[in-house]
Amino acid sequence: MLFSELGLSPEILRAIEEQGYSQPTPIQEKAIPLVLSGRDLLAAAQTGTGKTAAFMLPILERLKKFANTSVSPAMHPVRALVISPTRELADQIGENVKSYTKYLPLRATTVYGGVNMDPQTQELRRGVEILIATPGRLLDHIQQKSIQLNKVEVLVLDEADRMLDMGFIQDIRKIMGMLPKERQTLLFSATFAPEIKRLAADFMHAPQTVEVARQNATNDQVEQLVFQVDNFKKRQLLAHLIRSREMSQVIVFCKTKISADQLARDLKRDGLDAEAIHGDKTQGARLETLAGFKEGKLRVLVATDVAARGLDISELPYVVNFELPNSPEDYVHRIGRTGRAGAKGVAISLMSPEETKQHEAIERLTKQTLPPQNVDGFWPSWLPRPKPAQREPAMSSMPVLAAVKGEGLKQPRPPGRRSRKGKREIPALLLPPRYKVELIR
Ligand code: AMP
Repeated sequence: MLFSELGLSPEILRAIEEQGYSQPTPIQEKAIPLVLSGRDLLAAAQTGTGKTAAFMLPILERLKKFANTSVSPAMHPVRALVISPTRELADQIGENVKSYTKYLPLRATTVYGGVNMDPQTQELRRGVEILIATPGRLLDHIQQKSIQLNKVEVLVLDEADRMLDMGFIQDIRKIMGMLPKERQTLLFSATFAPEIKRLAADFMHAPQTVEVARQNATNDQVEQLVFQVDNFKKRQLLAHLIRSREMSQVIVFCKTKISADQLARDLKRDGLDAEAIHGDKTQGARLETLAGFKEGKLRVLVATDVAARGLDISELPYVVNFELPNSPEDYVHRIGRTGRAGAKGVAISLMSPEETKQHEAIERLTKQTLPPQNVDGFWPSWLPRPKPAQREPAMSSMPVLAAVKGEGLKQPRPPGRRSRKGKREIPALLLPPRYKVELIR
C-alpha cells in the first residue's frame, strides 16, 4: 500500500516523503483510515511500529481546514491534545509533528514538568492547535489558566500502560473530565491492563480496536540472548561484550537511578564512553546526553525504564538489560528500543541467580523460551564447572586419574589432546606444580 492511497493531503504526503517514509507501516495502514473516519480508537501497538504517525497524520488531515497564518491567539485554539507519560516521549512526538507540519500552517508545542513554566505559558498564550503535554504540567497550566481546552476535538493518550505504571491515571481521568464530550479519543498502549480497559469504557465511544502485533509480543527482528552470570561479574561481562561484539552504540538498562549512575561511572573508569540518564538529572542534562547519543558521540547510554520511555534512536543495534526488570512489560518496552522500523537488533540480558523469577515472568508474558547461556571466562559460580574428564565420550571407557608425586609437567597440552604415547594429559594450570599426572586407561 502507498501513503497516497490513505486519503492524506499533498502537503502531508510531501512532508512524510521528505522523512524518507516510502510505505505505511501496518499500524498506519490500519489506523489512519479509522481515525480519518472520526471513530474512537483503541490501538495495541508497541514502540517502533510507527504509531506516532499513525495518529498524527490523520489528525493533521482533520485539522487542515483550521490552518491559518493569523497572529491572533483566538484563531489558534487547542484542537488536538496529546498526553504522554514522559518528557522524552513528549519531545519525540513534538519533533515528529514539527516535521509532519512542514507544509501546513498549524502550530504545535510541547509542555512538560521540570523546566520553567513561563516560556511555555507565553507560547500557549500565543495559541497552538496541537498541544503535546505530560499530565502534571498540563494540569498546572490549566490551573494557571494559561490554556483553554474547550475546543479540543481529538485527544490522544499515548503509552497509556505507562501512565498507569507511573501513577497518572487519576490525573488522566481529571483531564478527560474537563474536555468537551463531543470529541474523538485515541488510546495507544502496548498492553491492556483491566484499569486501561475501564478507562476506555468510561471515556470512549464504541472504540474500534487495532492490533499490529500480539499483545506483549516482542519484535521478531530482535535476537534475544540471556547470559547467566554472577551479580558481581556483570559489569566486567558487560564491558567484555561491548568490546568483543564491537557494539558501536548500546543502551544499557538498570532498575534504579543509583545503579545506573554507578554503572556509568564504572564503565567510564573501564575506559568506555558512558553516561547515565534518569529522572534525577535535570531536563537540560538529559536532553544533552540524549543528543550526544543520537549524534553517535556517546557509545553507551545507561538508562532507567522511566527515562528511556519514548527514546527513538533509529537502528540502534544493541540493548542490554544489565538488570532484569521487575515488570515483564518493561522487558518488551526495553527491547523495543532496538530493531525499530525494520532494522535488525540484538537484546542481551544479564541474569544473576536472584533474577530467575523475572526471567520466568518474561518468558510467560512473551510466550517464548529464552534459555540462559554461559559466556567463556564468566562461568557462573553456582554451576559445576565441566571437568575435563566429563568431556570423555562414554562413562564405561572413562580413564582413571592417577597423580604421582614428581617433577611436574614438562610440556602442557590443551585439555584432551593426545600425547605421542597415546595418553591424555591434564593442563598444567589446573594442577599443583609438584604433581605429575597421567591418565591411565
Ligand atoms: P514510533 O513507533 O512512532 O515511535 O516510530 C518509530 C520510528 O519509525 C520513528 O523513527 C519514525 O520516524 C519511523 N517511522 C514511522 N513511520 C514510518 C514509515 N512509514 N516508514 C519508515 N519509518 C517510519
